[in-house]
Amino acid sequence: MSTKEQYDVIVIGGGPSGMMAAGRAAECGRRVLLIEKNKDLGKKLSITGGGRCNIFNVEEDEHKLLENYGDAAKFLYSAFSQHGMKDSLHFFEEKGLPIVVEARKRAFPESQNAEDVTRLMKRYVTGNHVELKTGTKVLGFKIDGEKIIGVETNNGILTAESFVLATGGSSHTDTGSTGEGITWLKKIGHTVHPSSPNIVPLTVLEEWVKALSGTSLSFMKITFGSNLTKATGRFSRLGKILFTHFGVSGPLILNAAHDVEKLLTNGPVEATIDMYPDTDMGVLQNRVLEIFNTHKNKTLKNILKEFVPVGMSEAVAVQFPLELQETKVHSVSKLERRTIVNLLKAMPLTITGTMGMDWAVTSDGGVDLKEVDTKTMRSKLYSNLYVTGDVLHINRPSGGFSLQLCWTTGYVAGSHV
Ligand SMILES: Cc1cc2nc3c(=O)[nH]c(=O)nc-3n(C[C@H](O)[C@H](O)[C@H](O)COP(=O)(O)OP(=O)(O)OC[C@H]3O[C@@H](n4cnc5c(N)ncnc54)[C@H](O)[C@@H]3O)c2cc1C
Repeated sequence: MSTKEQYDVIVIGGGPSGMMAAGRAAECGRRVLLIEKNKDLGKKLSITGGGRCNIFNVEEDEHKLLENYGDAAKFLYSAFSQHGMKDSLHFFEEKGLPIVVEARKRAFPESQNAEDVTRLMKRYVTGNHVELKTGTKVLGFKIDGEKIIGVETNNGILTAESFVLATGGSSHTDTGSTGEGITWLKKIGHTVHPSSPNIVPLTVLEEWVKALSGTSLSFMKITFGSNLTKATGRFSRLGKILFTHFGVSGPLILNAAHDVEKLLTNGPVEATIDMYPDTDMGVLQNRVLEIFNTHKNKTLKNILKEFVPVGMSEAVAVQFPLELQETKVHSVSKLERRTIVNLLKAMPLTITGTMGMDWAVTSDGGVDLKEVDTKTMRSKLYSNLYVTGDVLHINRPSGGFSLQLCWTTGYVAGSHV
């Protein structure tokens, strides 16, 4: 290190990946400065998992775990061999944070408190004597040929031997992740993919959906693009749907949003909900007929709850004219009965858009992986620049995979920087 450089390493961004990189680099003996524009570290980390922090996913089969990162799986192979899920588990438990596992192998702190994870990461940083500059905003890089020589901040220029860019993506901008780091990478010649919301709730046209706000249905199938005659991207997903005052959310929706967005480029997307995904039409017809025969003298409206999933009978009822809703079951025609069963298997829905960046768990986009060294997270264009976390162009579903990406890439960058 030449004498004019103030630090061995400057890490920009005090989110999970930046804290991991800074703590690790300092643990390895480097003199590290961590710069964060917020007053405190880990603002987004503290709201993860609805305040409970889905800290990683305990899928033990590394091959299966990596499949969740789609095309980036190959890129991440080496990084995960240096710090994978088991290393994260050890890292947190060894530092006094017991972990519990819930459905879909999602791991959470036993305390169910994301703040505990943030506090632990802060201790990791300060305990390893990382110097902190919070409330300091980086404005861009100073470069000289193929090297970063410094960062310009609102408090002047700071220099170091190496730099870690951990400024995150563009989702929930209120947390400080405003995507500027990705803009700087573009400015200095990196290929970056534009940001778009990912893992995000969807907006819906139908009023009955909004009336169900707060209702969740645990085992449903949605088919998107169902009636678009030449739709190339038609696909179905199974899982839990949550109705909201603007549309739909819940794990099924959040994880399908990325693919729905592609369909949305052609306008609103038609979708259908199958409320009985594991019952075929014939069986359902017979079941409904039996119920009709048992309750001949009741009104249609009153017997819907006998065969419509809890919470949905109002929504099904409003699909019919009031007159039919009040009709005694013995007077409902066979055709009308079939229409009702069809609704149970294909309740129509019109998806009009996404809730946008401020509601997205992650944003798509970031630096092209071809320009990042797989073993070190080092830029292939700038020999003293490393990138971590949401700055990387990697898609993944919800379930702890985003934070695992932060622990892994932060650790790898911190070890090599
Ligand atoms: C509501 C919500 C819930 C989530 N829940 C989960 C979950 O349960 N499990 C999971 O795996 N993932 C979850 N995620 C995703 C996860 O939080 C992110 O993937 C993760 O925080 C990315 O970490 P990062 O270190 O890359 O960046 P960030 O956490 O975005 O941190 C970047 C930091 O850089 C700082 N910064 C930005 N620009 C500058 C600048 N110019 N100068 C100085 N500092 C700057 C920002 O202020 C910020 O603190 C959730 C996300 C959201 C929004």
